[in-house]
Amino acid sequence: MDIWEVCPQLVCLNQDGTYYEGYLSVLDQEFHLAITLPPNRLLKDAHIDVEPKVFYLLQEYQTLVKQRLNQCSGLATFLQELKVLLEQVLDQPSQEQYIRVSSQLIDELNSINWERLVYISPTFHEVHISADDEHQRRHILKVQLHSEHPRVAPTCNHDLPSKFKFVWTPSSTLKDLLSQFENTIQSYQVFWDVMGEIDQKTWVLEPEKPNYSATYRRIAISSNSSIQITLDPCHPENLAQCQFMGADSIVDPLKQKLNFNLENWDPHRTVLQNLEDLMEMEFPSPNNTKKEEFIGECGICYTYRLDMELPTKVCENPQCGQPYHQSCLHEWLKTLSTSRYSFNIVFGECPMCTKPITVTMTTGD
Ligand code: ZN
Ligand code: ZN
Repeated sequence: MDIWEVCPQLVCLNQDGTYYEGYLSVLDQEFHLAITLPPNRLLKDAHIDVEPKVFYLLQEYQTLVKQRLNQCSGLATFLQELKVLLEQVLDQPSQEQYIRVSSQLIDELNSINWERLVYISPTFHEVHISADDEHQRRHILKVQLHSEHPRVAPTCNHDLPSKFKFVWTPSSTLKDLLSQFENTIQSYQVFWDVMGEIDQKTWVLEPEKPNYSATYRRIAISSNSSIQITLDPCHPENLAQCQFMGADSIVDPLKQKLNFNLENWDPHRTVLQNLEDLMEMEFPSPNNTKKEEFIGECGICYTYRLDMELPTKVCENPQCGQPYHQSCLHEWLKTLSTSRYSFNIVFGECPMCTKPITVTMTTGD
């Protein structure tokens, strides 16, 4: 078999017979191809350049292609096999559509800066595009294209703190989508600034690694107390929700101060400034404290994070103040004959200091 029989449009372009370039035609389609053989002309060391479309079509068959390069007796045989493989792949009905989507998508991506393309799936159905906001925060819009793109709107994943509402028409493009995303990002600048100040100036215990979509923070107050605040991303200057955790002896006075002073909440100041002013305290700062001081392990299982649970139940004895997971403490008290039950509360003794301690029964008991 000769090369020209299999691929009449592929020509050798050098005297050594080691460089071929041209087209491989498969089912009425022409695919550009360049093959460089090493000086020893061994096929297994050949370098084959294909156009992106072929690359993606054969993505799943890379190992097979490499194996055939190793085993085929000559270039003509290899090209013949490559042609058959492409015929089979192209013959799958979904491929046609996917080629249509991919060429449409490449046009659309050309209209966006390619450097902003963070990821593209081998099937071209998912693209991730970056958008930087005015405070150099990087956001990623993950777009899943419908197989009938652009007739049907894509679905989007993102790190916005609420739903991304966008307008899509059959003539919309990724560029339109991206500009709507950028406008939405713009509207959350104050929210991210407020959260950013908290992340920077306090010890945030939860979420462990806050992302831009998280609307709450649990902030360390002392070694065994914390406050969890939740903000409305559309009104980040107000306190939407607030919950104290820890020993009553520490959190009760703070709770009272906050409630008493709440009318003095000043929307022109940040949430952190308001909280400190109203509770007449300062949050421990990463500048002069270590996070370990605020992450008290459970006195029963000696871990901090147990599945999703944190040791939020704290012994009320000021000399003890040992934190426990609710579930650990409940299991522990259940095994003791001295424990008493009333409704869904278990009364028992702190395993550490033996002073009275209570725990609310965990669901499922
Ligand atoms: Zn525990
Ligand atoms: Zn105790």
